[in-house]
Parts: sequence; structure tokens; C-alpha cells
Amino acid sequence: MIHEGGCLCGAVRFRAEGTPLNVRVCHCRTCQKALGAPFFARALFDQRALTLDGPVGRYPSSAALERLFCQRCGTRIGAWRVNGTAAGLALALFDDPTAFTPTEHIWASDKIAWLALDDGLPQHLEGPPMPAGEMSAPASNAPPLRRD
Ligand SMILES: [Zn+2]
Ligand SMILES: [Zn+2]
Repeated sequence: MIHEGGCLCGAVRFRAEGTPLNVRVCHCRTCQKALGAPFFARALFDQRALTLDGPVGRYPSSAALERLFCQRCGTRIGAWRVNGTAAGLALALFDDPTAFTPTEHIWASDKIAWLALDDGLPQHLEGPPMPAGEMSAPASNAPPLRRD
């Protein structure tokens, strides 16, 4: 299954093949700042499953992660792990924004107070334990999920 998406102006387009490693909503302060939004809802894919075209800019928000954005319209595309393993793409940018549904919230300890969550999903105060799927991925011997 292939899912496509892109930025506001259309200059950046991406393509994701197969099933995401996970689909989560991150409430960490860095995601809030990087997105200019209360949280970052994203589907995490193996980088080998992704194709990105267009004027993609990159900003290192930490030693582990680069934030991707469209250099033309400024849309925040997602986050790219510099260790070459995975990348998260914003759910809202898929041509079908309902293609993926989050299964949990992470870094709920940073959640903005006025945001009320009643979706019944687990809310991890920090990053969740590494799921088996990610552990078995090649080259994922880097430190597990952390605040980026
Ligand atoms: Zn754009
Ligand atoms: Zn985050």
C-alpha cells in the first residue's frame, strides 16, 4: 500500500510504502516549537519506505533528529532520525489525512494544559518502551525514543 502526501504549496511531495512502524501523537515541547502547534501527530516509517521530492529543508532540533520543512511555503513535513532508521511524517499532510490513526500519546508530561484528550488512548508521560517492531529493525541499536 502506498500513501502520498505533500505540503501546502505542493512543491514538496512524499510517498510512503507499506505499514508505519507506529502512529503516535507527540506532545513534547520540542515538537510544539518545531511545529508551531500543540502536538505532532505523525506516522513513523522506515526511511527506506519513504521518498521525498521538492525543496525539503532540514533543521537539527537535536543531535538525533532533523525537522523537515518546505523551503517554499514553510509547511512542517516531519522529523528525520539522523541515524538512518526512521522518519515521522505529519498525519495531516497525507492526501488522505485519515489514512493513519494514532494509537497512543507520548510525552504527555509536556501536554499543553488546555488540551483535553478524551480519545481513550494510552498517554505515556515520556517516550513509550521500545516496541518489538522497532527493536528488530536493522541499525536501530541507537538509543531508543527520547525527547528530541
Ligand atoms: Zn510547500
Ligand atoms: Zn516530540
